[in-house]
Formats: sequence, structure tokens, C-alpha cells
Amino acid sequence: MTKKTATIAIHNGLNEDTQFGCVVPPIYLSSTYNFPEFNQPREHDYSRRGNPTRDMVQKALAELEGGVGAVVTSSGMSAIHLICTVFLQPGDVIIAPHDCYGGSYRLFNSQQERGAYRVIFVDQNDESALQKALAQQPKIVFIETPSNPLLRITDIEKISELAHQVGALVVADNTFMSPVLQKPLALGADIIVHSCTKYLNGHSDIVAGVVICQCRKQLEDLSWWANNIGVTSGAFDSYLLLRGIRTLVPRIRLQQENAQILVDYLQTQSLVEKIYYPALKNHAGHNIAKKQQQGFGAMLSFELKGTEQVIKTFLSHLTLFTLAESLGGVETLICHPATMTHAGMSEEARKTAGISASLLRISVGIEDSQDLINDLQIAFDAATKR
Ligand SMILES: *Cc1c(COP(=O)(O)O)cnc(C)c1O
Repeated sequence: MTKKTATIAIHNGLNEDTQFGCVVPPIYLSSTYNFPEFNQPREHDYSRRGNPTRDMVQKALAELEGGVGAVVTSSGMSAIHLICTVFLQPGDVIIAPHDCYGGSYRLFNSQQERGAYRVIFVDQNDESALQKALAQQPKIVFIETPSNPLLRITDIEKISELAHQVGALVVADNTFMSPVLQKPLALGADIIVHSCTKYLNGHSDIVAGVVICQCRKQLEDLSWWANNIGVTSGAFDSYLLLRGIRTLVPRIRLQQENAQILVDYLQTQSLVEKIYYPALKNHAGHNIAKKQQQGFGAMLSFELKGTEQVIKTFLSHLTLFTLAESLGGVETLICHPATMTHAGMSEEARKTAGISASLLRISVGIEDSQDLINDLQIAFDAATKR
């Protein structure tokens, strides 16, 4: 019988040590491996190519997403770069969402500038724009759902069908959901990428990425190129990631529960203009999210009424919400996209993407929800007095 996500997350690598009977696997830091005899290599020869600790976390991640295997890389960006290196030749087209993660946007653009491949950014919910882009015979259709920071939802099943009709590979960035809340391979995607820096590790203490696929040949090519260009992750980060994954399911459940409580509270606040959270019935992607996700996640955004001074006052009175980029950790973070994560975009591009100067994004952690609300209340009171 196939095991459920929570069991897979806990049990990977347990009780595999034959020397001491360790329950938790040891970390294998060695960069090199001896040859028992002349011309007799072992399974591993050098840790860039293969490392037992990285093997364990790769197996865990593949199993969690339902793939045949995984390549764990030094960052989410190197995972995305690896996919493009393997599957795109000069002149090939990749279609990406117009509001994709800023780092991905920059990577695709800069690689296009140097002639590595061509990128077409589209609003993937705009059917005619999407069809026009698909007519360019893309090699890859890159999906990111929910999007950042407005949590726009893309129908993975529908877009995968359209992409496959033109022979494109579908790559899904599943960072915002994790395999607990969304399984893109089961919905038709071919390849999954994650920034493991976020929910998968969950403790904001490593930077790592992963590529997971369903086809052995693709896995072989990805592994070969990961070693060739040297983007595989180190043993220590792999170890921390494996450890972080053990608590993935309860973390996500608590984070999501807290997110709903915060949304309920924010809805009662007169300073809150608009809330972006896919559980809300007025969210444009609510029905698709309900269909393809196993939950609404723990990322939310809202617009705060008032001037920049009101936002400054609000943020400066928060003590449990750290003003920082990144997401997915056990600690709650708040971010002002216009001056932080999306500062690299032109004002024009931000406007098109719908990111206003009054938008705030929260990555909800697992603190006590009442403490979080009390903290917000102090900040709202201070901002109201301005
Ligand atoms: C953070 C992030 C990335 C990039 O990952 P790094 O680990 O920071 O390199 C890619 N996609 C999404 C959706 C992200 O949030």
C-alpha cells in the first residue's frame, strides 16, 4: 500500500544504519570515497556527483511528490536553471507567468539576453494570450501557482493539457504549496521544482532547491547535468532539509490554521482594504484552488488603507512579525513587496502585476494565533492614531 504524505515525511532514512543501529541517519560529510581495489569504484566516488545524505533527501522528496527521482540543488534558482540547461537550446521558447517569482523572471530575461533561449511572459489565465504564446511551439510551459504576492491561481490540469497538445514539457514551481497541499504531477505536470529554502525545510536556515520528475531518462539527464555544472547541494544542507521535512505536515497544518484565523481577524479591521487569500469566496481563483489544492496554504496579502507613513507606523509596532523577505518558516514574516521582494520591477511592471505600494504580504508561522492577533491589534491601533 502506498504510504500517506505524513508517514513518508517522517520515515525517510530511518533505521537504515547497519553499523550502530542509529534510528536517525548519520550525516555523510566526506567529499570523496575510496576504491576498495584497482578499477573497482563504489556506488559513490565524489560528493558533487553523489552523496549518501543527499541521496536520502532526494528519495524523500521524490516520494512526497510521486516522482521517480529527484535532484537536490544548491538553491531554488539553480534547480530552475538546471531544468532550462537540460531542456532548452538556443532559439527554444519557454512560456512563463508574467507575475512569476522575481528571481525566475530575472533568470529567464538575462538568459534570453545572452541568447540561451527565448522567453514569453504571459498572464496564463488570459486564454487568448496563452494560445498566442502556445502557437510559438514552446519547449517548456512554466507554471507557478499560487503566485507571489497576490496568490493568483492557475489551473494546472487545464494548462498541462494545452501545453502537451503542442508538445511542451510542463514544469510546475510548487514552492508555495509544498507536496502536502498540491501534487502537480498527478494534475498533469511533467516536472516539479521547489525552493526547499521555504516550506520544505521550514526553519529558514538553509538555501536549497529540488527538481523532481516522472521519467527516468529525464532524471538521468538532470542528474548528469547537475554534476556537470556542479549545482548539487552539500551534505549539511541536505541533512538539515531531511530533518526539516520530518515535521512538514504538522507545520503546514498549523501555519494554514493560523492563516485562516488571521484572515478572519483582518476582515474585521477598518484599515484593511483588500485581502488576497484563495480561501475567500471573492478570490478570483477560489474554485480552481478548491479543486486542485488540498488546502489554501499559509501565505496571504492585504492592502492597508493610508499613506506610506501609516504603513511605516503599522510595521514599526509589530514585534512578532519580522519584516523580512522569504517565506515558509515556522516564524511569521511580513514583507512590503513594493520596496522588498518586487523592488527590482519597474513601477509600471508592478502596476501591471497589481502590486500596489500599500500591499503587505504575510508568511504565517506557527506561533500562538492569539499572540499574533494581539500584536496586529497594537499595530492597527497605532496606525489608526496617525
Ligand atoms: C524563493 C523562491 C524561488 C527561488 O528559490 P531560492 O531557494 O531562493 O533560490 C523560486 N520560486 C519561488 C516561488 C520562490 O518563492
